[in-house]
Amino acid sequence: MTSSTYTGPAVFGYETDKPRRVASISVHTSPLATLGGKDAGGMNVYVRELTCHMAELGLPVDVFTRRTDPDTPEILEICDGVNLISITAGPPEPVDKNQLFELLPEFAEQMALYSLRTGVRYDVVHAHYWLSGWAAHLLKRYWNTPFSLMFHTTAHMKNVVSPETEHETQLRSLIESKLVHLADSLIAANPDEAADLIWREHCDSAKLCTIPPGVDTDLFRPLDREACRRELGIASSEQMVLFVGRIDPIKGLDTLLDAANYLKAHGSPARVHIVGGDFGVDGAPVGPLAGLAAVAEERGITDSLVLWGSQPQNRLPVFYSAADVVSVPSRYESFGLVAVEAMACGTPVVASRAGGLIFTVEDGYTGFLTPIGDGTAHGRRIFELLENEELRRSFGRAAHVAASRFSWPAVANSILHVYERLAEGHRANLCCEDEIFAGAV
Ligand code: UDP
Repeated sequence: MTSSTYTGPAVFGYETDKPRRVASISVHTSPLATLGGKDAGGMNVYVRELTCHMAELGLPVDVFTRRTDPDTPEILEICDGVNLISITAGPPEPVDKNQLFELLPEFAEQMALYSLRTGVRYDVVHAHYWLSGWAAHLLKRYWNTPFSLMFHTTAHMKNVVSPETEHETQLRSLIESKLVHLADSLIAANPDEAADLIWREHCDSAKLCTIPPGVDTDLFRPLDREACRRELGIASSEQMVLFVGRIDPIKGLDTLLDAANYLKAHGSPARVHIVGGDFGVDGAPVGPLAGLAAVAEERGITDSLVLWGSQPQNRLPVFYSAADVVSVPSRYESFGLVAVEAMACGTPVVASRAGGLIFTVEDGYTGFLTPIGDGTAHGRRIFELLENEELRRSFGRAAHVAASRFSWPAVANSILHVYERLAEGHRANLCCEDEIFAGAV
């Protein structure tokens, strides 16, 4: 791959009221990382899609990530107008997320040096996740560039639904509270997250916009169920429940196993297909997927599970279209791309009543919402859908229409408006009229 050519002015101290180039920061994970692994999922998709749609609107973007491999070229083109810049900060190898904070001063310094070296000036910084937010804050030592921050999840939102052993660090909570006030703009993915930032963190609502991610409706569309099943080697008569995502406790896989137990105990022959996680060279699951397989074996439900490992995103429409029901049993989702991707493919979703899912899955119309962590309720709703083809069809049709609200061009336009307001010097009233969640709150 080659880097895309920068055509804008390469000067410093040049005042403008329109952004000409954006620096997007994703320190801990690259938008080109393999999806469905431990640390690569919705945020990676978000950064890739948003930046590429932004470039289509005429605004080029450089995405900065931490180098994890000495051989990665400094600049890689993600799409026309968007470059991925690998910044060396700390060892050029994977480092645990919790060890990255101390590398952020070096990361910010190296970003500033990169821009000096290449003569590129940025008009807006868009940071993703708390680590990148802190890097954006440190960058203010070098540039007086406004920054917009999207947390994707917050420690608070995660901790309230997680056992203490899985709690996020106090450092993360502390930094997130500071960043709410340090950032020039905040973007929340759903109305609940926005309310939390305002009422718990006392965020200035004038700088907060609620803009959900989008879904690629060209890729995620209903495909012929039988053809998809043939491609996957799944019998037409099989009752197929599908889970797609990272194998992480926040995804509620314990609830999914409880639901699989419920199905089995009620005589359902359904199988639960799990897309996500890794296999070793010997073909056996490794890491968190191995843990899941071990728990399934203990419970005697191994036969009800099919483990696929992570799949390239462009193959997922085949899985969604083949499935009878998609299960999203997460303890928390900032948005929950998987639910909306499945809906776009015309497949009903059974999801937990958590975070963004409350606003995307319409209970009793496009799918069902069940209490967080309640495997019996989750299993019962899946069972109900598996047993009722007419209900599945009607939910699937409604789901397909509902998902079309989340279009990337609309999302990119809303965020472009925020960038323009920031570049013009505004620090309030940053949002354009956002209709996406209208009627949802
Ligand atoms: N995904 C993928 N391959 C996989 C598993 C997941 O491409 O094997 C993608 C999926 O299409 C979705 C994203 O990863 O776009 C997961 O996003 P979501 O918001 O559901 O979860 P997050 O990872 O943000 O918690």
